[in-house]
Amino acid sequence: MKGIMPVNHEKLFATEAQRHGDSFHELQNNAGLIDFTNHKISKNSVIFSESLCLRGITAVLLLIFIALTIAPAGAVASESVRTQEINQCLSGELVTWGDGRDRPAIASQLKFAYHHAAAPDWFSEPQVAAMVAKAAEEWSQCGIRTSIVGWGVLNLLKPDVIRVQWSDKESRGNFGLANLGKRTLSLGPKAFALLKTRNPAYDSRQTLQMVISHEMGHFFGLMAHSRRCVDVLSYYDNGKGEACYSRDPAQMRTVKEYRSIFPTACDIERCRNINGMTPLLDGRLAEHPRTQ
Ligand SMILES: [Zn+2]
Repeated sequence: MKGIMPVNHEKLFATEAQRHGDSFHELQNNAGLIDFTNHKISKNSVIFSESLCLRGITAVLLLIFIALTIAPAGAVASESVRTQEINQCLSGELVTWGDGRDRPAIASQLKFAYHHAAAPDWFSEPQVAAMVAKAAEEWSQCGIRTSIVGWGVLNLLKPDVIRVQWSDKESRGNFGLANLGKRTLSLGPKAFALLKTRNPAYDSRQTLQMVISHEMGHFFGLMAHSRRCVDVLSYYDNGKGEACYSRDPAQMRTVKEYRSIFPTACDIERCRNINGMTPLLDGRLAEHPRTQ
């Protein structure tokens, strides 16, 4: 196993870096899209494209990951620091990279419809549909109601229905891309195929769940990316040598991917803030605390 993931990520990172030049994270300067540099958002279309762990990983983090094999048995005590970070957002931890301006969710309730066409054949339809439903359920702790609806014409015409689909064109070669204007959350078949080719031993279901949760967060109004490593909305660095924050950086050596696959207490807390909801009690997720 043994650390193959980081090497592959490094290669992919290089690919992404070349593709995007010096652009910051998911910066898209195409006409009509978002320009994070100037914080300008076009009237109808805001797009977030993600390569997640493949982009924005510093050399330092890569070295840490390269040293990685499997978490030492003693490293995970009853509740790891990472798990604590996932379940509770402490005062002062709501920090972002400042790469976007948060705003309320795009609708008072969010409905998601999933279409399995063009999905990689190693992901089954029930499997991905369950991931979409699970991400929506977790995000509903923000106080915004969520539901899953069928991929029917009548549903797709409704303005509060977000279409979760597989498309290399719409994902623009990224793992995922949230287009708030078009109400589409597009997943990239080629990006997942590349991940599988480069790193067949890695469980790409974890990446898929993370991408879905991350992209979904943008529809809830989280436009900036979190600077807290464990948050599903995080980026590990800003490409300028500044790294994300964690309570115990040594913990990052104990897992292959430090970022949560679901929204954390801080993701939910920020979501509640920007949508005018009351804060979480003691900064904690109220329901089903997670270890993942
Ligand atoms: Zn994003």
